Parts: sequence; structure tokens; C-alpha cells
Amino acid sequence: MKYLLLIPDGMADLRIEELGNKTPLEVADKPNMDFLAKEGCCGIARTIPEGFEPGSDIANLTILGIDVRKYYTGRGPIEALYRGIKGKVIFRCNIVKVEGGLMIDYSGGKVGDDVAREIFKALNENIPEFMRFYSGRSYRGLLVIEREYCEVETTPPHDITGKPIINYLPRGCELSDVLIEIMERSKDVVPRFTEKANMIWIWGGGRIPSFPKFKDLYGLRAAMISEVDLIMGIGRGMGMDVIEVDGVTGYIDTNYKGLARATVKALNDHDFVMLHIEGIDEVSHEGDFERKVEAIEVYDEKIVGYIIDRIDLEDFRIMLIPDHQTPVKIRTHTRDPVPFTVFGLKRDDVRSFDEFSCRKGRLGFVEGLRLMRLMI
Ligand SMILES: [Zn+2]
Repeated sequence: MKYLLLIPDGMADLRIEELGNKTPLEVADKPNMDFLAKEGCCGIARTIPEGFEPGSDIANLTILGIDVRKYYTGRGPIEALYRGIKGKVIFRCNIVKVEGGLMIDYSGGKVGDDVAREIFKALNENIPEFMRFYSGRSYRGLLVIEREYCEVETTPPHDITGKPIINYLPRGCELSDVLIEIMERSKDVVPRFTEKANMIWIWGGGRIPSFPKFKDLYGLRAAMISEVDLIMGIGRGMGMDVIEVDGVTGYIDTNYKGLARATVKALNDHDFVMLHIEGIDEVSHEGDFERKVEAIEVYDEKIVGYIIDRIDLEDFRIMLIPDHQTPVKIRTHTRDPVPFTVFGLKRDDVRSFDEFSCRKGRLGFVEGLRLMRLMI
């Protein structure tokens, strides 16, 4: 038996008036996902445990059976796992634009990698020797601090667009004063390199986590394919083979063929493959419901259709589950349950893969941590 886990990021949604009071999934023409629902067994799952923000990291860890209450330490540390960066404490940081005390752009005008590299290099010249910045893609960076961790409360910059930053500065322990000072000093550095941004925002910090290994949990040789550092960091942390695909964008213009092909190929020499695709979440954040329907249809054809046409379904269990809802009306993630189907289990009466049909499935309501056990 082989196992395939398909995660279209943020695909679940709410009913929308303009779509005739249906969800994008209910409206979309998606024969391949419907086939998996029809031939499989469906339900809805809670992927965001009580007390956690509905982030993709939290949801994907939960689906993979990792208890975030025990193992989650923050977003920065997971991205560091992906990049092989070590240190006692790791924070995420963004190059941002603040005006009149308000957060104007959490992504610093999407500065180019080259400019960002120069910015972080200059920042490193003027910080205590127990700290070091690492640049990443575009406006994203990491800050490594060789000090003991203490509980600092920080806020993701994308959550405070248009709001006064003074209310969201790091707080909690002595580390927060250090972070605030570094952010303050960055105001002299960042504008030297770009007009689109003027400071650094530090958030999402913690110790490097030690996740249970996939092999120890499930006894299977596993691979992960994703377009996103955060998700690939989870794969690395769990000891999965992380497969990188050329030409991916994390958007709806991504290299679908490359991703689908890599998945079929990985299934040859692995027992379990997880494929996480980002683009549907991005169009959900943009608030465009027609584009979301289109993106779902493309995913159905170019990912799900491509793969199931090329594998021997008799040997397979396939779970299809969006990690969380990203309703286009709200334009951000929510914590409500998501629909899922497991192909390869005894079928139920569900005919369509969507939020409302799956509710009536035989598996009913499931806690996210139990999902892997249902499939394997
Ligand atoms: Zn997500």
C-alpha cells in the first residue's frame, strides 16, 4: 500500500452571495476531486487546535499528526530548519514600510533578493555579536540570537496592516527590549537601500523544535513536495525527503506540471508523499472569488487529475484536505473545520468534494491529530 496526502492551501471557504450562495468548491467544475470523494470516505476535520492562530504551519503540523501544544515553537525556527540555520533562538523578520507610526506594507514593496541581502548585511554590521541576520527570499529574513530563550510576545506584520505599530512591539521579557532596539536601529539602515521600506519587523521567534520523525511515527519512507519554506521546514524537521521543484512560484502561475510529475516520481521510491500547493490560498487573500474558482479547477485538472491518471489506484490510499479555510470574503485564515476525503477506505454516500457534502460523510467530525491514523 502507498499513501498520498494532497493539501491545497486555503481551499476551503464559506458560501458567497455572488456565487449563488455557494462556496467556490461547490461551484467549481472539479471531476477529479469529486471522484476521490465519491469513491472514498469523507468527513470534516479541525486542523487548528484551541488556542492557536490559524496558520499554515499549525494546520499542516496537525494534519501530519504533530501535537503543536507539545512541539510548536514559532514560525522562524521552522523556516530555519528548512534552511539548515542553527542557533539557540530564531526569529522571523520582515523588511517593512511604516509611515506615521502605521504599518503600511508588511512586505516592503516585495524588495528584490539582492537589495534584501545588502540590507541584512548592513544590519549585521551594527548589532551585538550574539545576533546575526540571514536574508531569505525577497522581504523575508531570519534573526538568530545566541541567548537563552524567554517568552516574548510578537505580532506578525501582515496582521497589523494600517495599525499603529506601537501597540504591537515585542513584549514579555528582557529579550523584547533588545528586539525593539534592533528594530529602532534598522530605521537608519533600511532606507539607504530602498524607498519601498524603512525598517525591520521581528516576530515569530522561539527555539528550534525537535519534531517526532515521520518514520518513527508511521514506519513509512516519506517525501514532501512544497513551494514554501515554512512547509518544507516541517518536512525537514520530521526527517522526510524534501523534494524541490524548479519554476515554482507559490502562486496560481506555478509549475503545476513539474509539481505533479515530481509527485508521481517520488511515489516510485517512497511509501508516503505529501504534496502541498500554495496558490489557492494566495488568491483567497486577494479576495477574488472568481479567481479562486478558476484556481480550484486548475488544481483539479493539473494536479489531482494528472496524478491519479498515472498511478495504480488499487494500491493507494489518498487523503485530500485543505489545511484550513481562507474565505475570500474575510481574506484571511479562519479556524473552522475543513472538508476531507480518504480514497481507499470503504466508500460512503458523499458525491462531491466540498465543505457541506463532506459534513455528511461517514467519518463525521474528526480531530486533526487523528487524520493520519485514519489513512494509514
Ligand atoms: Zn495554509
